[in-house]
Amino acid sequence: MTDRPEVPEVVAAVDIGGTKTAAALVTRSGQLVARASAPTPGVAGADAILQTAADLVLRLRAGSAAPIVRALGVGSAGVVDAATGFVLGATEVLRGWAGTDLRGSLASATGLPTAVVNDVHAHAIGEARRGAAHGAATVLFVGVGTGIGGSFVLDGAPLPGAHSAAGHIGHQPSPYAGKLTCTCGGTGHLEAVAAGPTLRAEYERRSGATVSDLRAVAALAADGDPFAVDTIVLGGTAVGSAVGGLVNVLDPHVVVVGGGVANLGELWWGALRAAVRREALPSLVGVTVVPASLGADAALVGAAEIAWETMT
Ligand SMILES: [Zn+2]
Repeated sequence: MTDRPEVPEVVAAVDIGGTKTAAALVTRSGQLVARASAPTPGVAGADAILQTAADLVLRLRAGSAAPIVRALGVGSAGVVDAATGFVLGATEVLRGWAGTDLRGSLASATGLPTAVVNDVHAHAIGEARRGAAHGAATVLFVGVGTGIGGSFVLDGAPLPGAHSAAGHIGHQPSPYAGKLTCTCGGTGHLEAVAAGPTLRAEYERRSGATVSDLRAVAALAADGDPFAVDTIVLGGTAVGSAVGGLVNVLDPHVVVVGGGVANLGELWWGALRAAVRREALPSLVGVTVVPASLGADAALVGAAEIAWETMT
């Protein structure tokens, strides 16, 4: 008789982003026990993107620890119909991604029961169930990075909307965006003023100087550059104003704010919190607003959560 060493049951999780595809094996309790990643071959088209994702899962599965992989959960950029498993829409960063049978393709490539969801919704599931809002009944998640997206999560499940498009928080009118053109083609949307690239552009417009990225603006603000201070305050204020309005609509138990721009520090957060207080109804002014706690792992943790659900 041979005793098998104790091997944990895990699921595989994949996060397909515009530039990087990350994968992990994740335990029942949300621990990432193995990781792999590769550049997303967005220009090469849907088949190459699917192949990259499947290869990462198969590589992890073949790893030396050889745990039992039970299912696969995928968070992907683009508008994803979690019910049918198809990608309904995507930007040109992922060429030909719209129309892809994401769930069916990866299920047959890996042989695993598979569940799929939009990547921002995967982030939100991760933070709502295992991260900063763990245990809260309703959570508003806002991710502020290259773009601005979010999700309203009820009892651990994101609200998908009638067209799987709920959560496009960056594409609502913002009084701080003026006539700025948005990535969606619209005018005056939140994303046009408060996302990372647009905030950097705002600094360059105001100061006449050129900076490499938003971190450089934060460093200048720390040194007292008034243009940098004003720009970061503008970004936090614009996001906070939107969050305050959404709090009035949704009355969430907790608001979680994540994404790279949320790492700008206390200047940005102070402006955000002040704007939330300004916009929120008197009875909601004490709403809990916290930073995300899982960082870049949130989407993998969320994808793992929906993978486990395929087995119940
Ligand atoms: Zn827009």
